[in-house]
Amino acid sequence: MQRAVEELSKLPGIGKKSAQRLVFYLLKLPREEIVALAKSLVDVKDKASYCSICFNITEKNPCSICMNDHRDRSTICVVEEANDVMAFEKTGEYKGLYHVLGGALSPLDGIGPDDLKIKELLARIKDEVKEIILANNPNVEGEATALYLSKLITPLGLKLTRIARGIPVGTDIEYADEITLTRALEGRMNY
Ligand code: ZN
Repeated sequence: MQRAVEELSKLPGIGKKSAQRLVFYLLKLPREEIVALAKSLVDVKDKASYCSICFNITEKNPCSICMNDHRDRSTICVVEEANDVMAFEKTGEYKGLYHVLGGALSPLDGIGPDDLKIKELLARIKDEVKEIILANNPNVEGEATALYLSKLITPLGLKLTRIARGIPVGTDIEYADEITLTRALEGRMNY
């Protein structure tokens, strides 16, 4: 029991308490369900790899997005993690391609440009690509990464955009912090 708690609490966002709660929950499940869960985890580890074009997580290479003829090949949305691709795909609004960097620049954690798929992104920028959308996270590391990329991409002369940062839907302005409000003003659009 202690071992299961320890293993689970290594997962991101899971503390000792949550791990304990999960183990208690799992104990109540029939054995087959636990086996199915464990097997699905091993399967995903065995079968999933990275798309050699966009570095999204995929079971077949290249991934289904890169291989989809209906996607707009003139636009590449640059994100930090494969999770972000899933988030954009859920909107159903974006029809272009992606590029997963695999994180953000973070000198304090020893993560430099060579640790991210930046060279690979630049290699993808050919004639058919007309726009790069920077969708890095709106935190210190994400902003630093977006700035770094903008310096590399701007000289290439294609359209470079950054997703708007602003007030989350359902939040009142009075509760937004100053940075968010400033960004929302900067990112204002024609009505
Ligand atoms: Zn791909």
